[in-house]
Amino acid sequence: MARYTDAVCRLCRREGQKLFLKGERCLSPKCAIEKRNTPPGAHGKKAVFKRKMSDYGMQLREKQKARRVYGVMEKQFRRYFKEATRRKGLTGAQLLSILESRLDNVVYRLGFGDSRAQARQLVRHGHFDVNGRKTNIPSFQVAPGDVIKVRDNSRVMTYFKDRAQVLQSVRIPAWLNLSLADMSGSMVAAPTREDVEIPL
Ligand code: SF4
Repeated sequence: MARYTDAVCRLCRREGQKLFLKGERCLSPKCAIEKRNTPPGAHGKKAVFKRKMSDYGMQLREKQKARRVYGVMEKQFRRYFKEATRRKGLTGAQLLSILESRLDNVVYRLGFGDSRAQARQLVRHGHFDVNGRKTNIPSFQVAPGDVIKVRDNSRVMTYFKDRAQVLQSVRIPAWLNLSLADMSGSMVAAPTREDVEIPL
């Protein structure tokens, strides 16, 4: 399962906006966008952003942004696009709904991780059950009614004990429901385009 492993702040600098790929650091003055919002590379400062962009260029940048926010590689993104074209409704909205329904994203939006990358690692390490079954596939598609729960063995870990405190102040989106008592969450409705955090 391929994933991007290079420096992630350069991805934000390439897009010229915060993509929130690093958790707490993204909200601090250490954020690379706060310090120098120029494209990466030796010629970054020569303002790629000042260049007029074609329609194709704009569409490409938005696609890349979506891939980077959700940590999806090109091949899988194509698969999602194909699935979105099969579904009823606007393809773009369906595509975002598919991306937002990934298990790693749901775990992140429920507040169990500070970033999607961290949530992905938590899923990979097998800390969650979906509908009572251990699920360690970050791309697993969560459906309305599914219950995601921290596994009993994992709940005794310091990370999840500390996380219970953090979860009290996390803003949970309307399409999800969090139960602090048993460290679980459920999807109450399929996410829509309006539920996407970062404007795409
Ligand atoms: Fe992007 Fe976060 Fe790095 Fe800032 S700190 S550039 S928002 S990944």
